[in-house]
Amino acid sequence: MKLVFCTECSDIFSLSLNVRSCRCGRVKGRYLDERHAEVNGRGFSIAIDNVSLFKAIGRMGALHAQTREGYEQACQVDCWVRPHDGEGNPHTIVNKGL
Ligand SMILES: [Zn+2]
Repeated sequence: MKLVFCTECSDIFSLSLNVRSCRCGRVKGRYLDERHAEVNGRGFSIAIDNVSLFKAIGRMGALHAQTREGYEQACQVDCWVRPHDGEGNPHTIVNKGL
């Protein structure tokens, strides 16, 4: 899952096939298809590992049904702050015209 973070308004948003922007309008991006995306080069790209997210949701649900203790450690999700394009983010391009 690709997210984009704006350091000006602290908004974080997921991409869709339509252009989305943060609350202040500085950071924009969209999916080009199911795998590729473009962003306007501002802010930071964040990737969340979908497998770890769904595992954490499952663990949290099971733990929440039993107890509210200790779920913070058991429900961690893998995520990365990445460059907008290049080797560290090969399926995203920068389009400053967005
Ligand atoms: Zn913003």
